[in-house]
Amino acid sequence: MKHSRDTRLLHAGRQARGSGTRPVNPPLMRTSTVVFDSVADWRAAREMRATQQVLSYGARGTETTFALERALTELEGGARCKLYPTGLAAAACVLLACLKPGDHVLVTDAVYQPVRTLCDELLRPLSIECEFYAADGSDIEARLRPQTRLIYAEVPGSLFNEMVDLPRLAALARRCEALLAVDNTWASGWLFNPLAHGADISILAVTKYIAGHSDVMMGAAVCNERSFARVAQLSESLGQTASPDDAALALRGLRTLGVRLAQHARHALAVAQWLQQRPEVARVFHPALSDDPGHALWRRDFSGCNGLLAIELRDRSPARRDAFVDALQLFGIGASWGGYESLVVPVEPTAARSVTAWSGRGACVRLHVGLEDPADLIADLAQAFDRTAAPATE
Ligand SMILES: *Cc1c(COP(=O)(O)O)cnc(C)c1O
Repeated sequence: MKHSRDTRLLHAGRQARGSGTRPVNPPLMRTSTVVFDSVADWRAAREMRATQQVLSYGARGTETTFALERALTELEGGARCKLYPTGLAAAACVLLACLKPGDHVLVTDAVYQPVRTLCDELLRPLSIECEFYAADGSDIEARLRPQTRLIYAEVPGSLFNEMVDLPRLAALARRCEALLAVDNTWASGWLFNPLAHGADISILAVTKYIAGHSDVMMGAAVCNERSFARVAQLSESLGQTASPDDAALALRGLRTLGVRLAQHARHALAVAQWLQQRPEVARVFHPALSDDPGHALWRRDFSGCNGLLAIELRDRSPARRDAFVDALQLFGIGASWGGYESLVVPVEPTAARSVTAWSGRGACVRLHVGLEDPADLIADLAQAFDRTAAPATE
């Protein structure tokens, strides 16, 4: 019997009925060394571990991390998964696994900023040519080359939530025999599944909505058959692993991913619609808004939204924007998102994009709308606007 997504989210990665008396959650297994009864057993485990989850050494995974790998693999419809100490480590290993000197990679202009730094500081000195394409993907065909081995996408884009037609990118990647890797942190494996839309690798910052409580750092790369071996090999060469304690917390977060995301999305839409009515706000960037430029693609490919939105203020003054951020009481000023609480950071769009000139003129802010009552969040935003209004003379 094929169960619904909500049901599978609760059962993914757990020991199946029929496997004996068992705890609901997989036991926390901490180990470095694993000991064997015989040399033959030891050898057999080492031979099998490239193709199966086998307990052989702590860095290669324990029963706890294996359970999380199985759950994420099932969620994303992949073949296998690797875990990392951070989301950024997952992205870095995917890039290094798919590229060698002389190769060309196309990276979205809407990429998570530290990946842009990685391109400049690590990939370019390794003679890997990194070229950025417009966040909406419109110019990508003209940028493809015979040396293009990877298209690196993010849907929607970091900070301003630009949508891209991922099946179109997948078709272009296949045409030039390149791989398509997608940073799927925004959807966190729940609102969108890149592999089902033609991607080869889905990168997840588990740190965000999957762990969901602002207390875990972790990343994952869920791969199809075509891409797993090279990602696994490079990651093992670089000694990448994830802690079983963190995997247990991530699994606990994962079970409520669906209900949390639905609530974040409801609250974010209420806040976004209220912001659209405010005279201080020039634009709100949130794909669930019916007038968002990415709304049609988002409706076609995604099953829901999350708590992220960005706003461009009418006021151009970065100092008054910062005063507005400082005046907020319920929104913590801090990086990351995906926990239960509301967050805010000032953002500089011209520094974050290199391909497309930024069309806006006002100062910008990124909000993560948490699980607080949206009426309280709206009241907080209102008092911050009132306290920091621009002088009437300007
Ligand atoms: C946060 C984030 C990452 C990195 O995750 P960390 O666990 O903080 O390293 C990668 N991609 C996106 C889109 C992110 O938002």
